[in-house]
Amino acid sequence: MNTNSIFNPNLVAAQQPSWPDKQAVQSVVAELSTYPPLVFAGECDNLKNRIAEAAAGNAFWLQGGDCAETFVGATADSVRNRIKTILQMAAVLQYFSSLPVIKVGRMAGQFAKPRSNDNETRNGVTLPAYRGDAVNDLEFTKEARTPNPNRLLKVYNTSASTLNLVRAFTQGGFADLRQVHSWNKGFAADARFSARYEEMANEIGRALQFMHSAGVDPESFKSVDFYSSHEALILEYEKSLTRIDSRTGNPYDVSAHFVWIGERTRQLDGAHMDFAEKIHNPIGVKLGPKTTPEEVLAIIKKLNPKNEPGRLTFISRMGASLIREKLPPLVETIIKSGSTVLWVCDPMHGNTYEAPSGYKTRKFDDVLDEVRGFFEVHKKLGTHPGGIHIELTGDDVTECVGGGEQISHEDLATRYESACDPRLNHTQSLELAFLVAEMLRDHKK
Ligand code: PEP
Ligand code: MN
Repeated sequence: MNTNSIFNPNLVAAQQPSWPDKQAVQSVVAELSTYPPLVFAGECDNLKNRIAEAAAGNAFWLQGGDCAETFVGATADSVRNRIKTILQMAAVLQYFSSLPVIKVGRMAGQFAKPRSNDNETRNGVTLPAYRGDAVNDLEFTKEARTPNPNRLLKVYNTSASTLNLVRAFTQGGFADLRQVHSWNKGFAADARFSARYEEMANEIGRALQFMHSAGVDPESFKSVDFYSSHEALILEYEKSLTRIDSRTGNPYDVSAHFVWIGERTRQLDGAHMDFAEKIHNPIGVKLGPKTTPEEVLAIIKKLNPKNEPGRLTFISRMGASLIREKLPPLVETIIKSGSTVLWVCDPMHGNTYEAPSGYKTRKFDDVLDEVRGFFEVHKKLGTHPGGIHIELTGDDVTECVGGGEQISHEDLATRYESACDPRLNHTQSLELAFLVAEMLRDHKK
């Protein structure tokens, strides 16, 4: 069945590339429509069930990865380091929250970016803005910046190979909890970081030793479920990977387990929300500081009118200085409406600024403060601070300032590799996990 007829063709889609050759786009779409699914709809349902548990307060969501994946960045080392970082974070969060952690990569499909400006000007030359490897190339030449739909085929292939590696790493022994713990011990023993982390790691170590001495050796220590996610942005790509699930007869976007609609494309009468409404995957919607209570109610009415648990996740990205003021009215509105949603904190996108050297950056302390504010709001209102959404990499980049390594504005040039927004590096990500683990532990008291 051609799933295109499911979607309303008359709606405006924001943030789409100006493809120069419409015919070429059509042939790419025709080709993609013949490709096998990247994920199985049943896996999307499993994730939905796990999100339902988190929404009920019985699990914690950890989503992380690049702002923008790149084709050259999809190497074995880079994928492994990101998986390793997320697994290390998850182990700490799980231990101190006593909750299962749902592990989700911004990965295997996060290749397209919304931009504030359609164009970029350098030294008097104006070219189309970089919209992610799905659309054009970062290099500042006319040829590289011209949108090329053939890149969508490469998005599929790179996503497939990334996901294959993710499945191998998470099922094939690499994710063994004892190994993950030994990595964490290495980090926590580093004198540049708080001594508290070492105490916390030792506590986890003692728990593992206790279980070992009691003969506990469950299969669940040896492998983990890991889900893929990205922003559903380029609708030609997402629609051509939407398929009818043979079990249920329902359409699913089989390009990822979970997709979200960004702050710039969530117009209620726009094509992205129509897309999200029609697919049966679990869906996220980003909420910035201008979001009104009326809007969140309208989003719920559109995307989850039957209040299916696990279907809808709100990812707030207010900024550290605004979260304590802007989030409560939205949470209160949801409480009153009786709807079930998972609340996730994105402490990255409201805290970006330009360093004096021109690099886009974020302060580790702002990221931490936004998460702290998120926990405070949920504590006050009696709701579950359900998870975090982080731009991170497993490599030792210098893109965000602060943290135990005390990266300064001057240090940013040392190793700034992001194709888009600044990411927490490996150790900043682990520090954040230890600090959020403390918040989770204290939240329960
Ligand atoms: C992003 O997640 O990279 C992004 C662009 O976020 P937002 O839609 O919240 O600005
Ligand atoms: Mn980003």
